[in-house]
Amino acid sequence: TEVENFPGYPEGVTGPVMMEDMRKQAERFGTDIRFGIATDVDFSGHPHKVTIDGEKVIEADAVIIATGATAKYLGLPSEEAFRGAGVSACATCDGFFYRGKDVAVVGGGDTACEEATYLAGLCRKVYLIVRKNYLRASKAMQERVFRTENIEVLFEHNTLELFGSDMGVEGARLVYKKGTPEEATKEIKIDGFFLAIGHTPNTEVFKKYIEVDEQGYIITEGKSCKTNVPGVFAAGDVMDPIYRQGIAAAGTGCRAAIDAERYIGELHA
Ligand code: NDP
Repeated sequence: TEVENFPGYPEGVTGPVMMEDMRKQAERFGTDIRFGIATDVDFSGHPHKVTIDGEKVIEADAVIIATGATAKYLGLPSEEAFRGAGVSACATCDGFFYRGKDVAVVGGGDTACEEATYLAGLCRKVYLIVRKNYLRASKAMQERVFRTENIEVLFEHNTLELFGSDMGVEGARLVYKKGTPEEATKEIKIDGFFLAIGHTPNTEVFKKYIEVDEQGYIITEGKSCKTNVPGVFAAGDVMDPIYRQGIAAAGTGCRAAIDAERYIGELHA
């Protein structure tokens, strides 16, 4: 979708266009780009090894991990059952399918507010389901939500389950002020249910060698992008639980590249 806060694009830019621009720029400097899933790594000694798609092993002097973070789900069985049939963790990817319909977004942070506002432009009505009695999002983002007429914020509500048919989600059962004398359940009719409750860093495959914090984010040394393994560096959301913005990720990408270049220079000195 529109990226409004990446420097150098005074009119904003769409994500795919920005990615294509970055790819072309990297290729101009000789980058050999290949696609595949890193299914295993061996960082036990030099050279480092990365297994791609479970079969091909690539050896490298230096590795930069930039695997990002994946959206969290509530863990409801009905949410699993309707995944891809009304349940989504990316409003900007899937919102189009809900044009003119009623949807709900879960969460109270910047992502939830941003997604609710985006969906409000496409959908008839957007419920924002917030478990606390306040939004954690930035003031500006909150104001956008409160200014948008077709967003209804349901504070102190939690989702009990989703219901629907073979065609997909048709509604959600919610509970208000659970565990208090005011506890009450409520049903909302919706066609789409969007999760915006945070992310889990994609570090599973590296944990055997790479030090991570209690949330699973890669720990880097001081202001560098060095991990605990010499020659392995980390950049972007996978090592950044705080800022999680494109420009912040690009900044750490630059640092990781410089760290890796210096490491390789010393290795071959
Ligand atoms: P956050 O961790 O900030 O917010 C997660 C939200 O989900 C919180 O309101 C939390 O509730 C709620 N939540 C978590 N688990 C559950 C659950 N099981 N049931 C119901 N609600 C739940 O994540 P975001 O993705 O919103 O933001 C991540 C970072 O990215 C932040 O630093 C944010 O500022 C930044 N960001 C900035 C943007 C921008 O500036 N354009 C856009 C998007 C993100 P509770 O408050 O009760 O803990």
